[in-house]
Amino acid sequence: MITDVVIAGGGPNGLMLACELSLAGVRPVVLERLPEPSEEPKANGLLGQVVKMLDRRGLCERLSGSPEPPQPNSTYFMFGAMGLDLSLLEDSPIYALPVPQRRIVQVLQERAIELGVEIRRGHEVVGLSQDDDAVTIDVASPGGAYHLRARHLIGADGAHSTTRKLSGIGFPGITYDRMTVRSAHATVPADWVDPATGALNVPGYGAVSPFMPHRTERGGFSYAPMPGHPPLVSTTEWDQPTTDAPMSLDELRASIRRVLGVDVPLGPPDGQGPHALRRLTGGNTRVAERFADGRVFLIGDAAHVYAATGGGPGLNLGLQDAVNLGWKLAAEIRGSAPSGLLNSYETERRSAAQRMVLNAQAQAALIAPGSDVTGLREVFTELLRDPSTVQRLAELTAGADVRYAMGGREAHPLVGRFAPDMELHTPAGPVRLAELTRTARPLLLDLTEGASLAETLALRHDQVDIVAARSQAPAPTALLLRPDCYVAWASASPRPDPMEIETLRAALQRWFGVAEGTVRVSGQARSRRPEHR
Ligand SMILES: Cc1cc2nc3c(=O)[nH]c(=O)nc-3n(C[C@H](O)[C@H](O)[C@H](O)COP(=O)(O)OP(=O)(O)OC[C@H]3O[C@@H](n4cnc5c(N)ncnc54)[C@H](O)[C@@H]3O)c2cc1C
Repeated sequence: MITDVVIAGGGPNGLMLACELSLAGVRPVVLERLPEPSEEPKANGLLGQVVKMLDRRGLCERLSGSPEPPQPNSTYFMFGAMGLDLSLLEDSPIYALPVPQRRIVQVLQERAIELGVEIRRGHEVVGLSQDDDAVTIDVASPGGAYHLRARHLIGADGAHSTTRKLSGIGFPGITYDRMTVRSAHATVPADWVDPATGALNVPGYGAVSPFMPHRTERGGFSYAPMPGHPPLVSTTEWDQPTTDAPMSLDELRASIRRVLGVDVPLGPPDGQGPHALRRLTGGNTRVAERFADGRVFLIGDAAHVYAATGGGPGLNLGLQDAVNLGWKLAAEIRGSAPSGLLNSYETERRSAAQRMVLNAQAQAALIAPGSDVTGLREVFTELLRDPSTVQRLAELTAGADVRYAMGGREAHPLVGRFAPDMELHTPAGPVRLAELTRTARPLLLDLTEGASLAETLALRHDQVDIVAARSQAPAPTALLLRPDCYVAWASASPRPDPMEIETLRAALQRWFGVAEGTVRVSGQARSRRPEHR
């Protein structure tokens, strides 16, 4: 028997892909070598466009515990440990969701199980080979070794990906070994914390804003008071002597003294662990030479890693890889994928990864020690008074400047971009666009006069949801969204002209293989909110 999709790795990105495939009607098998989810403290939260993406699937609510839509940070952020004044912007792209990685994994695993995904814990991929029909996967499990045949294997097995190595895919890039990052959950003197701003007032140094890296000519310092947890305190230094000694709070205290020039009396963390106490020397910045090899695809850290110190957290990239690949792979398996659809995964996500690597490397260069870097930073600080520079850097950091090539004229500025959320009025009542995309289906949103796009195109197929609505906002008047919420076509005309209708027809064909006269207008989709699965 051949399984449609096997996912190697039940970390956040593998589980997200499993959810996406399931929403599209394909039930994958997830093989995860760990018997239980890892307790290793990794991500402290999600940053950037991924937060909006998770809102498009109803997952923000589960992660934040709040039914409110996510709100952007419109005050202050950092780029290379320099202030970005987000109040200069009309539309801040910086969204943050402070949730630890183990909770993200827990929520995604619960969702995957709800959607019928089979997760085999304690099962490790140890070998693979491909033929014309399938991938044969060798699995080691507590019950013994066995083989699985799958039409596609996805390597979501992290930075040291076995899938990538067994597929002979190189992982070129650089290992930067001059930098040492020390981090620990620790207590700080309560009277040093400003109750109004949350800043840490360090006598002899000054205020350290929470979650914002600070640079001195000797290194970096950051203070991250996570809700419900002891603060995470970190330093970054260059050219430190190597040591095999276990990391300790004393070592972090000494590092802080070197970086800030003053003492910070850290205490052991209170509350329930696990607590971080780590020293990481060096960092890899690498992008896989291919994201696909025949029937094998890579997502997340298996496809790209970069040094976290430079900013631009990994899950912003990896979770969106999963969302990009899910609907395309499902269409391929159903036999409805237009030519070239699956190849667009690599084209689109490689450019997103390279952009994020650029961001991380630029920020790493700006926080390096030395007076020459200080000079560079002074120039940058002047540039950062310009709102358009702040906008560009905020978008770069958030991964919000990604624009995919959609083919055609791409006349409307939203084409190729992640669709903004909109308040809509449908016959069934008000709804946010983000709520209409939770089924992960293609969506034609018709806000035109008379809402007659479907009739004009004689759409009759159930591959595309069609929602007629009204919006207070002046533009756009119609949008065709891919399941990953990127805009494949848009119009600003109250009555799109024949040329625009032709480009809409071409977009339906290009992305969903929908030929003229084969799309059915669903009465349900037109008249009520889609059900949240
Ligand atoms: C200290 C630290 C802090 C970080 N902070 C942030 C942050 O604040 N925000 C952020 O967005 N990102 C952060 N990151 C990055 C983020 O943790 C990673 O990008 C993320 O874990 C990648 O997810 P993944 O699913 O691709 O891989 P992983 O999380 O590595 O998951 C891979 C899974 O595959 C399993 N596996 C491996 N090999 C096999 C095999 N052969 N067979 C079966 N299963 C296998 C592993 O057991 C694991 O469960 C941080 C990383 C570190 C190390």
